[in-house]
Amino acid sequence: MRRAGQVVREVLELVRSKVKPGATTLDLEHAAESRLKELGVKAAFKGYHGFPCVLCTSVNSEVVHGIPSSRRVLREGDIVSVDFGVVVDGYYGDAAITVPVGAIDESAARLLRTTEASLKAGIAVVRPGATLGDVGAAVQKVVEAEGFSVVRDFVGHGIGAQMHEDPQVPNFGEAGRGMKLKAGMVIAIEPMVNAGRPDVKVLDDGWTAVATDGSMSAHFEHTVAVTADGARILTE
Ligand code: MG
Repeated sequence: MRRAGQVVREVLELVRSKVKPGATTLDLEHAAESRLKELGVKAAFKGYHGFPCVLCTSVNSEVVHGIPSSRRVLREGDIVSVDFGVVVDGYYGDAAITVPVGAIDESAARLLRTTEASLKAGIAVVRPGATLGDVGAAVQKVVEAEGFSVVRDFVGHGIGAQMHEDPQVPNFGEAGRGMKLKAGMVIAIEPMVNAGRPDVKVLDDGWTAVATDGSMSAHFEHTVAVTADGARILTE
C-alpha cells in the first residue's frame, strides 16, 4: 500500500504543478493519465460505478466528485480540489489536495489552511486504542474553530484490497465513541470543509457534489496506516 501511496503522491504533485489560470480540468486529467500510462499503473476511480476519469476535479463550491472537462477553465482566484487513487498489485492508495489557482483571497486561503490542518489533527490522534470518534472530533474541532463546516454527507473509509472498505471514517463525532483502531488497519481520512453551511447536493451529471449555499469547499485526504507507534501516512 505504500507503493500505491507513493504513486498517488507523485501524480498529485504533477497535477499541482499544472494548476494555473487558463488550464482546464481536462488538462489536469490528461497529465495524470499520461503519467499513469508511463508507470503502467491502474487508476482507481476510472470506471468505478461508471466514473469517467482518473481524477476528480472539484472547483470552488464543488465539494467532491467533479468530472474533468475541457469546458472548465481555471481562473485566477479559484481553488480546485483534486482527488486521486490507484491500485498497485491489488492494493489501493487514495489522497486529495486542494490547490489555489494563482493568487487567492484570504478567506479562501484560510479555508485551505484550515482543512489541511484538520486532516493533520485527525491523523495526529491515530494509534491503537483510539476510536473513530476521536478522529472525527479532532477534525471537527479544527474546522469549527474557524467558523467553517464539516460536510456530513461524505466520509472517509477503510482501504486495502478495495478502495472503499469498512469502517466509515466520519470527519465529525464525539471523542471516545465508535470503533477502536487496531494496528494493521488502514483508513483514508478526508475532511471536506465548506466555508458556509455543511449541506451539499449532487448536480444533474449524477456525480458533482456542490455546497448548497454556493460557498467554497476544500478537501484534503491521506491514506493512513495504524501502527503500534501511531499513524504512518502512506500517501505522503
Ligand atoms: Mg477517499
